[in-house]
Amino acid sequence: NSVFSHVVQAPEDPILGVTVAYNKDPSPLKLNLGVGAYRTEEGKPLVLNVVRKAEQMLVNDRSRVKEYLPIVGLAEFNKLSAKLIFGADSPAIRENRVTTVQCLSGTGSLRVGGEFLARHYHQRTIYIPQPTWGNHPKIFTLSGLSVKTYRYYDPATRGLNFQGLMEDLGSAPSGAIVLLHACAHNPTGVDPTLQQWEQIRQLMRSKALLPFFDSAYQGFASGNLDTDAQSIRMFVADGGECFVAQSYAKNMGLYGERVGALSVVCRTADVASRVESQLKLVTRPMFSNPPIHGASIVATILKDRNMYNEWTIELKAMADRIISMRKELFDALRARGTPGDWSHIIKQIGMFTFTGLNKEQVAFMTREYHIYMTSDGRISMAGLSSKTVPHLADAIHAAVT
Ligand code: PMP
Repeated sequence: NSVFSHVVQAPEDPILGVTVAYNKDPSPLKLNLGVGAYRTEEGKPLVLNVVRKAEQMLVNDRSRVKEYLPIVGLAEFNKLSAKLIFGADSPAIRENRVTTVQCLSGTGSLRVGGEFLARHYHQRTIYIPQPTWGNHPKIFTLSGLSVKTYRYYDPATRGLNFQGLMEDLGSAPSGAIVLLHACAHNPTGVDPTLQQWEQIRQLMRSKALLPFFDSAYQGFASGNLDTDAQSIRMFVADGGECFVAQSYAKNMGLYGERVGALSVVCRTADVASRVESQLKLVTRPMFSNPPIHGASIVATILKDRNMYNEWTIELKAMADRIISMRKELFDALRARGTPGDWSHIIKQIGMFTFTGLNKEQVAFMTREYHIYMTSDGRISMAGLSSKTVPHLADAIHAAVT
């Protein structure tokens, strides 16, 4: 008799579980629109050419060894990551007010930031948007923070509930932490406009709310790395403090390499240096130090002007393919005369469309059409191709009529 016989079967992760179900389906028609990973027009995972090239260079360099990185990771990677997100001319970087530590992709960066805040910040409450990426509440709860939500999405317009957002942040206690998706909000694909960001910034600064940006899709929303960092740069430009979790999973296609960084922008260089010393105390007992390979790929690409340019071209091609899938799906629904206003498919941005389909409709599409997606009606546009759009449009049409 096992000493673990009382252990109950845990439910499958709501997002990764979609892929588990998909893998079990023998139908040749099956389509996985659940997980947020880029696929080519042929439905295959993509390794960027520039990533292959960087890996080749790393392999060929016999002077490279597999020693441990420092606790904070690869120094060059950290510096280049800060430059990428805050801008090459960022005064905060110039004034040494930013500390950047390499972490395990976006998730690990959020967790290290969350644990630091639980230990050292006077307010333990973090506000996250409703809805948000399903891992956010778990990450921050386990970090030791207390999670509350602010209104974000309006089902009626399938757009931003800006008034609700401002009211909820307006009534949050002074000093509370606020999680913001830097761009391409997951799962809704709905972002504030720049004018709205400016109003959010003013409100947050007036109440001393602490911004914690999650940047998992820089370059993926618009195809342009600077455009997608604008929200963050507005908050840094005012001289105030903020946290940023960066992921290279999507924009460099390095999902399984787990490459990311946490940056903390502080008021002074002195504070930044003390914050970094405490971040090391979070990391050391958690994973000791981060992996070397993925960070070396990123650094190789970011520090070389030609490789950087090549990356931006490949990144834009991914973003453009996603945008063209939006147009094709929208046109296919219109061609079928599918009832309802589907313009949100082309208005929403980034990897996902929040279709507005309900749980029953999603279950119907999975059962009858072998289309796999999360039960909240979110579909990954990156998993679609010109060949599969008609099948999806047929399924949506059947689900709503
Ligand atoms: N934040 C958001 C909003 C995401 O969508 C994701 C990926 N699904 C992440 C963070 C973290 O991803 P990763 O840990 O793979 O970088």
